[in-house]
Amino acid sequence: MSSLQPVRGTHDILSQESADRRHIVETGRNVALCYGYGEISTPIFEFTEVFKRTLGDTSDIVTKEMYTFEDRGGHEITLRPEGTAGIARAFISNGLAQNLPLRYFYQGPMFRYERPQKGRLRQFHQIGVELIGVPSPLADVETIALGAQVLRELGVLDRTVLEINTLGDTDSRNAYRAALVDYFSKHLDVLSEDSRTRLQRNPLRILDSKDKGDRALINEAPLFADYLNDVSRAFFDDVLKGLDALGLAYSHNPRLVRGLDYYCHTAFEFTTEALGAQGTVLAGGRYDGLISAMGGAVTPGIGWAAGIERLAMLVDTFPPLARAIAVIPVGDDMQETALKIAHKLRGEGFVIDMDYSGNLSKRLKRANKRHARAAILIGEEEVARDVATLRDLDTGEQNEIPLSALSKHLTPFR
Ligand code: ATP
Ligand code: MG
Repeated sequence: MSSLQPVRGTHDILSQESADRRHIVETGRNVALCYGYGEISTPIFEFTEVFKRTLGDTSDIVTKEMYTFEDRGGHEITLRPEGTAGIARAFISNGLAQNLPLRYFYQGPMFRYERPQKGRLRQFHQIGVELIGVPSPLADVETIALGAQVLRELGVLDRTVLEINTLGDTDSRNAYRAALVDYFSKHLDVLSEDSRTRLQRNPLRILDSKDKGDRALINEAPLFADYLNDVSRAFFDDVLKGLDALGLAYSHNPRLVRGLDYYCHTAFEFTTEALGAQGTVLAGGRYDGLISAMGGAVTPGIGWAAGIERLAMLVDTFPPLARAIAVIPVGDDMQETALKIAHKLRGEGFVIDMDYSGNLSKRLKRANKRHARAAILIGEEEVARDVATLRDLDTGEQNEIPLSALSKHLTPFR
């Protein structure tokens, strides 16, 4: 029955995958902490306006990918497709303009109605950061360095390339936009329908098109670099200089644009060849126009987001799951004593595995199957002598240990 299947593009995250994701989130959070970032958690749904206004009416996300519905109060609600718009909204709603600069780490689920495939889901998860209120190009350097550090600690940095480009300031973008309109207007017959719409409303967006015909045209399109004014060029140079100073390698990709309307100046992506078509693992840029576009005071910002699923596919080794110690009563009469011992050890922070049925050999078999590290056998005769048997399940070696000093003897098996 289809209603017993998860919705296409979603899946259940079981223990091992949960642990892997936790590792990614914790690595991101810890690195962000070292850079002075606090954490923010905004709702997973917002008024649709929040996304429409910030992502732009012509973005793929707004035109095709949003999960939008009317709630029982008649409000138009959208499940968040990305994190930045909600954080900008929170910045305004909470009157945070007095506290600049602000540094936030976030993580959580995002929702986009896309064609599911490897590395592309309808519910996916991101970690990300935002640095709000710093106009200096060094803010761009900081967030990029932070992203690189997260990738380094996950052991994947050397399988990615940092691609970077500039989208310039408003004046440069206007000049470039005019050049693009001029160019693409001469090739209307080849342009995809989507891109023809974009040509009217946001020609820059055409550069982000995935349509094959469009791609060929895009390769011959005018380059942004030729339309940058001095201010924009200097800004970009400073970002690159900062990256050089930190020894962060990058490749200038003059065709790189971000799919969203609110970006200016720096745009960057850490990409990999290891994941096939879905090669972008971490992507971000500067969004100086976003907060004012939403109705807040003009406030610069920069940030990035990385897909947890794509990161998880790249990471080779995750830290192993903590292995349990099985507490096993020998005979039914010992069940309660075993329960009490397990209770006490759990209270001391040991990972304890317990079963409530079966004879000794069955319980040992299950403990092994669950990959327990050791077992404590609680037998009547031993308990009478205030001891228990500790068996190392990896070596089979076993010893009697005093019940009064259990935790001391178990510590090596933690
Ligand atoms: P793409 O070009 O792959 O569609 P995007 O430009 O839409 O990416 P962003 O909005 O920049 O992606 O999101 C940042 C990151 O989030 C991506 O680099 C990717 O790692 C991840 N991501 C985006 N969409 C999905 C998805 N549908 N499923 C899984 N991960 C995703
Ligand atoms: Mg996309």
